[in-house]
Amino acid sequence: MIDKVNPVVAPITPHNDPWDPIRSLRRHGKHVLTSVELTVTNLCNMRCEHCAVGESLTMTEGPRIPVADVLRRLDEVEHLETISITGGEPSLHAGTVRDYIIPVLKYARSRGVRSQINSNLTLDLDRYEMLAPYLDVMHISFNYTSAEDLHAVGFVRANHTAGYHAAATLYERMVKNTEALSRGGMFVSAESMVNYRTHEKLADIHRLIAQMGCQRHEVHPMYPSSFASGLPMLTVEQFRTAIDKLLDARDPDLWMLFGTLPFYSCSSVEEDQRILKRLRTAPNVTVRNDPDGRNRLNVNLFTGDVFVTDFSDVPALGNMHRDTLEQVFERWKQHPLQKSVDCYCPAAQCCGPNLLVVDSYYKEVDFTSCKAVV
Ligand code: SF4
Repeated sequence: MIDKVNPVVAPITPHNDPWDPIRSLRRHGKHVLTSVELTVTNLCNMRCEHCAVGESLTMTEGPRIPVADVLRRLDEVEHLETISITGGEPSLHAGTVRDYIIPVLKYARSRGVRSQINSNLTLDLDRYEMLAPYLDVMHISFNYTSAEDLHAVGFVRANHTAGYHAAATLYERMVKNTEALSRGGMFVSAESMVNYRTHEKLADIHRLIAQMGCQRHEVHPMYPSSFASGLPMLTVEQFRTAIDKLLDARDPDLWMLFGTLPFYSCSSVEEDQRILKRLRTAPNVTVRNDPDGRNRLNVNLFTGDVFVTDFSDVPALGNMHRDTLEQVFERWKQHPLQKSVDCYCPAAQCCGPNLLVVDSYYKEVDFTSCKAVV
C-alpha cells in the first residue's frame, strides 16, 4: 500500500469532485479562482496526434521559475482547492519530479489542496512511485485498444517515424505502470477522447481501463483546438451515438466522468435532453462542468504567463512576475469572451458551455439568454 503523507479529509468520489466549478459557484455566489494548473515542462517523449498542447512541445527548455516564487503566488489564492501539474510529460526528468513537482505536491497537502498530474505513464515506474505519497489523482490519456493504436497516434507529430517495436514497448509500460500504481492504491483516472479514431471503440477502451484497475474513466469529446484543428470533426449526433454505446457497454462499478460535452439542458433538441437524462440517472456517472474559464487559470512556469487554459487561442492575460493570480482571474471575468458564456442554471447543475464547443457548434447561440429545460 502507498504510504500517504497527511492524507486529506474527504475522499474524491462521484459526490465530491473538487475540480467542478459549480461547487465554488454555489458556495460563493460567483465564480472564484479555486484551481491552478502549472505547466512544468514543454518536453515529452511522445507527440500524440490529439495532444492539446502539441504546438508548445519543444526538444530543449530553459530554467523554470524558482519553486519558492510559485508557492508564494499560490499562497495568495484565498480559495485554492486544486492544483494540476501538466506538460509535456511532467515526469520526463526525474530531477523535475524530485526538485519541483514534489515540493508543489507537499505544499498542496499542507494546505488541504487536491492535486493532479497529467502523465502518459510510459517512463520508469519508480518516478511515479516517488509521487505517490503526495498525489491525489494520476491522470492519464488512454485512447487505445492495443499497441497498434498507440503506434498510429503516439508519434504523429514527431519529426521521425517511431517503429512499431518502440511504440509497443511504451504501450506495455503504460499498461504495467497503470496496473502497478492502481494495485498500490493510487487514484488513476484514465481519460479517453471521443474523436474520429476512438468513437467506435470506446467500449473496448473502457474495458481495458477497468481491467487495469483505474478508479475513474474520464470521457471528453475532442474539439478542434489550435493544435488539433486539422483533424476530422465529429458531429454532435456522432458524439451522442458514441456515448450511448459506451453507456450500454460500461462497467457500472467504475466511476465515469464526462466533461466538455456538446449538449446542454437549454437545448430544444429532444435527443440532447434524452442523453442528458440518461447521464444524470446512470449509476456512478458524473458530468463535470468545465473548469477552463470558470474557476481555473494555467501558469507557464518558464515565462510566468498566465492563461485561461493551457491550450486555448486566448493570449496570456497576465504574468505571475507582475500580477497576482487573483488579479489575472478578475481580468478574465471582465473579458468579453468570458461574458459570452457566463450563464448558470442551478436546476440543471450547469454553469455554461465550453468556449471551444461554442466555437465549433453553437456560434449563433447566445447562451446568456437561454434557460435550462428540466
Ligand atoms: S447554464 Fe447555460 S449552457 Fe447550461 S443549460 Fe443554462 S443556459 Fe444552457
